[in-house]
Amino acid sequence: MKKALLIVDMLNDFIEEWGSLKVQGAKEIVPFIKNLRMEFKKNNLPVIYLCDSHSKSDPEFELWPPHCIEGTKGAEIINELKPDGNDYILKKKTYSGFYNTNLDNKLKQLGVDTLYIAGVAMNICVHYTAADARMRGYTVFIPLKGVKGLTVEDEAYMKKQFKDVLKINLL
Ligand SMILES: [Zn+2]
Repeated sequence: MKKALLIVDMLNDFIEEWGSLKVQGAKEIVPFIKNLRMEFKKNNLPVIYLCDSHSKSDPEFELWPPHCIEGTKGAEIINELKPDGNDYILKKKTYSGFYNTNLDNKLKQLGVDTLYIAGVAMNICVHYTAADARMRGYTVFIPLKGVKGLTVEDEAYMKKQFKDVLKINLL
């Protein structure tokens, strides 16, 4: 078994007060993810950032306010979780970190078969990335202290989905 940590969308626009698509309460999960990242690094295990990166006229903005536009401050990883040279950063254009990215190849190159997934939003990008990971045969762990959904109802629903439908291990 080889583990990797996926840090999903811990970007200014989702986390900071001034962010254009702020996930309420997401600041609370930052210290936990920071520690988790350090643990992975201590054990020489890969840390991969999945980052929303949109063009100005992205079709996603028909559904959501403009956010994480490539080259803007809002699209940057928050200060507390700045990656170092050994971390991997993958840009994505939609909810799943596997869609039109080389995440799957990267994980195979690294020999990873087990994913820890943390970040936001629990019911959107964490959800679809975790679902895709399970369909590709990865073992998935989600630490509940390391994810945040849009609402408490979303979080309750996702806990059930993760456990009962996707056989994801909740920590
Ligand atoms: Zn987006």
